[in-house]
Amino acid sequence: HPDLRTLVDTARLHAARQPDTTAVVCEGRTLTYAQLHAESSRVAHALHAAGAGPRARVAYLGKESEHYYEILFGCAKSETVLVPINWRLTAPEVSHILQDSGSEVLFLEEEFAPLLDRLPTAPPKTVVRLGRSDGYAAWKAEHPQIEPATSARPDTPVAQIYTSGTTGLPKGVVLAHRSFFAIRDALAAGQLDWIDWRVGDVALVGIPGFHVGGLWWATQNFNAGTTVVAMRAFASSDAIDLIREQGVTTACVVPAMLRMMLGEPGIKPDDFTTLRKIVYGGSPISESLLEESLAMFGSEFAQIYGLTETGNTAVCLPPADHIPGHPRMKAAGHPYPGVRAKAIAEDGRELQPGGIGEICLATPARMVEYWGLPDKTAETLVDGWIHTGDAGYIDEDGYIFIRDRIKDVILVGGENVYPAEIENVLERHPGVAEAVIVGAPDERWGEAVHAFVVPVRGQQPTARDMHRFLASRLASFKLPAHYEFIDHVPRNPSGKILRRELRDRFWNDSERKVN
Ligand code: ATP
Repeated sequence: HPDLRTLVDTARLHAARQPDTTAVVCEGRTLTYAQLHAESSRVAHALHAAGAGPRARVAYLGKESEHYYEILFGCAKSETVLVPINWRLTAPEVSHILQDSGSEVLFLEEEFAPLLDRLPTAPPKTVVRLGRSDGYAAWKAEHPQIEPATSARPDTPVAQIYTSGTTGLPKGVVLAHRSFFAIRDALAAGQLDWIDWRVGDVALVGIPGFHVGGLWWATQNFNAGTTVVAMRAFASSDAIDLIREQGVTTACVVPAMLRMMLGEPGIKPDDFTTLRKIVYGGSPISESLLEESLAMFGSEFAQIYGLTETGNTAVCLPPADHIPGHPRMKAAGHPYPGVRAKAIAEDGRELQPGGIGEICLATPARMVEYWGLPDKTAETLVDGWIHTGDAGYIDEDGYIFIRDRIKDVILVGGENVYPAEIENVLERHPGVAEAVIVGAPDERWGEAVHAFVVPVRGQQPTARDMHRFLASRLASFKLPAHYEFIDHVPRNPSGKILRRELRDRFWNDSERKVN
């Protein structure tokens, strides 16, 4: 559908062409495209009536549901901007986002209502409750189903997503409609099926909707008129059941979700016969996890790499490059047509192929700005290039290899050590389930490598044994000085390792690593 340019077009087109097709399934409830169009129009009128005009911020604090998507399209139609909030956040963190965004309306699921009383600041003037009391249904009921007039354009902001703050205070990334269309247009223009949507597809959304990955994947499927299977919150056993029961054909997950599914007792390839493609990304994946996943799920795999700031994916490792043992299995992927990538040195100079530096991406899906932070915007978005904060290199064929986040790089006596590289090797040790590498202060070398290890259940590999294993595969300056066992790896909901939690205790305030 090349004529689609905004989410308003999306809602209208599919309501006209396939009104009875299911747009969303959530916990057995369904919403057709006709209903999604009608209900989101009501939401748009109700937002107007509540005084939320164009560009007003509208916060949503809740889990995935059909209502979440009605509200998304309601925001698009009223030209307001949806601010989805991570429901795992504490009251002060939620308060920061409400204040920073200046949200005028808050949609609040009953489950999170107690948080409202604990907010250190006044809540938005309109709070609409969703859930048992169903204030939401009553709130929108009196408004008409007819589509309101809008002047939404590809550059009109539609979502403001807060980064998870693994690298500092969360920033509000403003995304316009074009962020949700640019990549599908690029794939279509290049006639590429790296990621594709087919009539009759049933798409599982594993990544939460307050994260750019989840919102992007859901909207791509709405744009294509397929069916979205929304999970209230990801649980691996539920995901496996849903794939079987709903006949899921495509899914978008983070690597940690693949790992959790593979750990489910009794899981077998027969569970996944309908699944034709898995799109994964959001954090680095180890080769061992990728190989195991390929063998189990038996579907095509496409890796995506990007940031909230690049409007989710700017780079993709297509299914054809998923060949175990091939060097490209280590790549994050290749830019889509129309997306450019470069690696730069610290002085800003563009590096030759193979040179390790900061990866920068120029993509038509890029953010508009960081909300209210012009200086931060100017640091990250320079002449159309998003500076990713990721260290990596680009090979002769344009494939991008991510080493790690620049802020996670450990400096051992002047040598750069990339945690992901060591984690990758250590996870190949038969007694190691997961590994996290951080830098700890070291008098002699400045920093030393510290390994946290989650052992495979029932095993207890010794430090000596792991050390020997690594020493035969890695240069000596990369070898951990200490090994420590932990039960589980702390991760945020999008699967990213919370290195700070593990690292902080090594650093007192005066020498704390800036992060
Ligand atoms: P903050 O910026 O506040 O730390 P965040 O980490 O959640 O928040 P995102 O925009 O969600 O911000 O994450 C983008 C980062 O995720 C990238 O810079 C990169 O480090 C990592 N990432 C995403 N996809 C991949 C991938 N396929 N391979 C490796 N790393 C990835």
